[in-house]
Amino acid sequence: MLPNHHLSDDARADLALFTESLERFCDTEIEPHYRDWERAGQVPRSLFARMGAQGFLCADVPEAWGGPGAPVDFSFAVVEVLSRRGYGGFVGGLQVHNDIVPPYLLHYGTDAQRRHWLPRMARGDAIAAIGMTEPGAGSDLKALRTTARRDGDHYVINGSKIFISNGQNCDLLVLAAKTDPAAGAKGVSLFLVDTTAPGFSRGRNLEKIGQHAGDTSELFFNDLRVPADALLGGTEGQGFVQMMRELPRERLIIGVQAVHGARGALDATVRYVQERQAFGQAVAQFQNTRFTLAQAATDVAACEAFVRAGTEALRRGELSPEAASAIKLHASECMGRVADQCLQLFGGYGYMAEYPISRFWTDARVLRIYGGTSEVMKELVARGLLGR
Ligand SMILES: Cc1cc2nc3c(=O)[nH]c(=O)nc-3n(C[C@H](O)[C@H](O)[C@H](O)COP(=O)(O)OP(=O)(O)OC[C@H]3O[C@@H](n4cnc5c(N)ncnc54)[C@H](O)[C@@H]3O)c2cc1C
Repeated sequence: MLPNHHLSDDARADLALFTESLERFCDTEIEPHYRDWERAGQVPRSLFARMGAQGFLCADVPEAWGGPGAPVDFSFAVVEVLSRRGYGGFVGGLQVHNDIVPPYLLHYGTDAQRRHWLPRMARGDAIAAIGMTEPGAGSDLKALRTTARRDGDHYVINGSKIFISNGQNCDLLVLAAKTDPAAGAKGVSLFLVDTTAPGFSRGRNLEKIGQHAGDTSELFFNDLRVPADALLGGTEGQGFVQMMRELPRERLIIGVQAVHGARGALDATVRYVQERQAFGQAVAQFQNTRFTLAQAATDVAACEAFVRAGTEALRRGELSPEAASAIKLHASECMGRVADQCLQLFGGYGYMAEYPISRFWTDARVLRIYGGTSEVMKELVARGLLGR
């Protein structure tokens, strides 16, 4: 972890204690169960409550709204530690709850909306998800077809979402829907959907090629009735702008997940190649192994500095969409490369599910897809360079 120069000595000491206690929590509350959760395709809801009790959820939500009120570094430290330990499947959903949904409430929510959801989220009593993607609208978010029609003091929502992290477990869904289907992006609004509302239903937990401990689902809305005050911020037509403003933090946190996942894969490989023997010597002695590890370590260190610069920019309120896209692009591609090179150094054992390197490799793949694909990230970076 790079030094956090902007933190006071006291805050840095607190962050070290926070990280140590999170490591202990992982040893006792996560590691012994993780394989079972991967087989189950999701973590138990109670894990969120146990993390909430320790202050590991929504760490930078202010105390006034029921959160721990720590600097953003604490929330990112949760993703760092869990990613390095190889819990990428859980991190996928956890970062939605901790880092992606709270800013929507903090930046655009009414006081009543914040008061209702944030304390419960920080305690882990309510699990949050975000629903943008639809079967016909992924990269092209403007094409979304879910509608929300005003009906007296309610909205009636119809449509569906796909690939929603925390889809099985969520109590709150931040849902993108069109309140004015004829108005394009200006007709999109966000709703804070209580998933117990009539008309909300969950599809099955989708089978994935990696990130097995995270639940990912289709969600259906059939005349889903939500009260009018579920409209985020109370004004229609703001949804697209709100999403565009919040996507930089979402992309940065995926960069954090990527670089610390890559670091975890590298650490596991450094240990393995020193133990494994071939041709009468440790695999670590082959020049190919040494060069591969040296290159990977150099890539990860450079990437870590890039991600850290993004965190600093976010803290100052200066993280641009182009910078966040470049970070996500670079870090997710770096993790994919490093995990693949590391797996190769395990030989056949790398292909076995019981070796954690295989999990780093399968978990890594989706980082180049979710939160915006690498191709879309390149488009955004190019738009910053070329003006369109
Ligand atoms: C495990 C997982 C979890 C997810 N969690 C969530 C979630 O919690 N909430 C949510 O809303 N969504 C979630 N997603 C959805 C994810 O964000 C989308 O899958 C992603 O944005 C890509 O959209 P798509 O799948 O429709 O692909 P498409 O948009 O159909 O893309 C197909 C291909 O076309 C390329 N492409 C598309 N547009 C362009 C372009 N302009 N230029 C060049 N190439 C282009 C893409 O890069 C890709 O290679 C999740 C996805 C996965 C797999």
